[in-house]
Amino acid sequence: MAVVGSVNLDLTVAVSHLPDPGETVLGSEVSFRPGGKGGNQAVAARRMGADTILFAAVGADQFGLDLRTALQAEGLPAGSLTTIDGAATGLAMIVVEGAGENTIVVAPGANELLDGQPLTAQLPQLLSPGAVLLLQLEIPLATCLDAALLARAAGATVLLNAAPLPKVMDPVFAELLAAVDVLVVNEGEAWHLSGQQGAPPRDTAGWQRLAAQLTAHGPRVCVVTLGGDGAVLAGPDGELACAGFPVAVVDTTGAGDAFCGALAVSLAQGRGPAEALRRSCAVGALATTRMGAQAALPTAAEVDGFLTG
Ligand code: ADP
Repeated sequence: MAVVGSVNLDLTVAVSHLPDPGETVLGSEVSFRPGGKGGNQAVAARRMGADTILFAAVGADQFGLDLRTALQAEGLPAGSLTTIDGAATGLAMIVVEGAGENTIVVAPGANELLDGQPLTAQLPQLLSPGAVLLLQLEIPLATCLDAALLARAAGATVLLNAAPLPKVMDPVFAELLAAVDVLVVNEGEAWHLSGQQGAPPRDTAGWQRLAAQLTAHGPRVCVVTLGGDGAVLAGPDGELACAGFPVAVVDTTGAGDAFCGALAVSLAQGRGPAEALRRSCAVGALATTRMGAQAALPTAAEVDGFLTG
C-alpha cells in the first residue's frame, strides 16, 4: 500500500496539567521522536505487516536525516522521501498530561512543499486494483487530490483521514472528498464537516447517523472515531459500531493514526467492514497504552494476541 503525507519530528514534554493561555508549566525531559500523520500511519501499516511506501518531504537538515534513518529502520524505503533544499523539516511540539490528553502545535516546513511530481512517476505502478492509498491533510490539498485521482485511475481504494480539517470548505477539498472511497474523521472533525448547528450527537446511534450523512460528500464509506468509545462506520451495507476496548491509557498521541493505518491494511487484506473496524479499534486502543506516536504502535502479532486473549 502507499501513504502520501507528512513527516515531523515530534518534540514531546509530559506535564502534570496542560497550560492555560499565558501559563508556564514545568514538564519532564524533552523527547525527540519521529511523527507526522503520514509517517505515523505508514509505520502503523508496516507494523501490521503490509508492504508500504511513504511519499513525504523533509528539509535538508539534521532532523530530516534523523527521520530518514528512523523510517528506514521501520522498513519504509528511503527513496520515496523527497529532500527540499531551503525548507525546514516539519516539527510538532506536543504537551501530554497525566491522564493522556495532549495539545499539539505543528510547524509544517517541508510538508507544505510536497507536490504531486514524485507521485505521477511512481504511484500508478504501485497501485494495482485492490491496493490502498492512504492520505491525510498535513500536506497541500492539491497534492492529495493528485494522488487520489492517480490511485482511482489505477483502480486502487482511496482512504482519506481528513485531519486536520481545512478551516474553510475549499473547492479542492470538496473535489478530494468526491474522489475518496473511505473517509475517516474523529468526533470533532465529523461534527464540523457536517456543518450542523446545536449540540453534537451524544450516543453511538447519533454518530452512526452522522457518519451516514457524511457519505453525501462523496465517500462510499465514512468512519467516525470516538476516542475511548470506539468507532462507528456507515456504508452501502448499513451502519456498524465497535465499542472502545478498555485499556490503561498512558498517551493518546497517534491513536487516530494507529487506527487509520490499521484500517487501510485491513481493507487491503480484504477483511470485511466489521472485522476491519474491530481490528482498527484494537490497534488504536493499544497505541494509547504507551508513550509516543510511532513508538507506541503495536505489531500484527500483538493485535492478534489482544483480540483473541
Ligand atoms: P484522534 O486521535 O484522531 O482524535 P480518537 O481519539 O477517536 O482519534 O482515537 C482513534 C481510535 O483509537 C478510537 O476509535 C479508539 O478505537 C482508539 N482509542 C482512542 N482513545 C482510546 C481510549 N481512551 N481507550 C480505548 N481506545 C481508544
